[in-house]
Amino acid sequence: MAKIGFVGLGNMGLPMALNLVKAGHQVIGNDVMPKGMEALKAAGGSATNDVAQIAGCDVVITMLPSGQQVRDVYLGATGLLAKAKQGTLFIDSSTIDVETARLIAAKAEESGMSLLDAPVSGGVGGAQAGTLTFMVGGRDEAFEEAKPILELMGKTIVHAGGAGAGQAAKICNNMILGISMIAVSEAFVLAEKLGLDKQKLFDISSKSSGQCWSMTTYCPVPGPVPTSPANRDYAAGFTAAMMLKDLKLSQEAAKLAGAKTPLGAEATALYARYVDSGQAGRDFSGIIQFLRK
Ligand code: NAD
Repeated sequence: MAKIGFVGLGNMGLPMALNLVKAGHQVIGNDVMPKGMEALKAAGGSATNDVAQIAGCDVVITMLPSGQQVRDVYLGATGLLAKAKQGTLFIDSSTIDVETARLIAAKAEESGMSLLDAPVSGGVGGAQAGTLTFMVGGRDEAFEEAKPILELMGKTIVHAGGAGAGQAAKICNNMILGISMIAVSEAFVLAEKLGLDKQKLFDISSKSSGQCWSMTTYCPVPGPVPTSPANRDYAAGFTAAMMLKDLKLSQEAAKLAGAKTPLGAEATALYARYVDSGQAGRDFSGIIQFLRK
């Protein structure tokens, strides 16, 4: 049984922490809001506002909104790294920029600690079911140490490479997703204008070269895939705001790395307009409604 600190008990972090409690670990949670801490305590974990107590754990997992909060929590005189003991293993599962991921990994290493970037895909449902995919960046030894813990929260654990590689994998994947959702949505909008039945387009494309996850699992029109958000008026799922966040991260990374991603840039601009039209909290597949206008 390990002593695990868990910072960021929100939509994703809380169910992940609860799976660690269920597996018999001693979990000490922290959040700036009381709700997640109360829920963790009710389920058999504990909670504290004392950073030193979290930093004193064998393993510390963070699940925070963005790079800014991750820097606040890890760095500076009152941050986790300043308070931790040598040998502590840190795992940051937030989706953040590659630069911040590499910066905190380097700072941890300077102080004799290991830090992995380990963003996830699979959403709140995957966090609850313990079926997340973890994309992990960092040293081999740290990955081997983290794997049994990540396996309690996820089904697929992939070591993507050195520090920052997990974040790189996450933003590349989500750039594909953002672009492919727009591509599939545009095809359905065109089919409507051409008088082609949506079910016929699905039956053909889902078995042809247009086949992709945005078509077969998350189809943006109601009917062909009964579990897709289109069937419940685009209730999220994965919100448009989160897709925009990940697309922006992909564009920042592309700029810094000197990669040309014109479709990624266009997808970012379209999602920004969709979010600005008051749809931040709607599922990202709802962009089809925006494209119809
Ligand atoms: P969330 O906003 O529900 O949770 C974040 C939590 O962090 C909140 O409870 C917040 O109070 C807490 N927090 C913020 N600053 C803090 C600080 N300084 N100290 C302690 N706690 C602090 O967000 P979420 O949906 O749980 O997402 C977390 C991360 O996971 C994000 O980076 C997101 O991009 C990523 N992600 C989310 C999903 C999803 O479907 N929700 C899927 C994959 C990845």
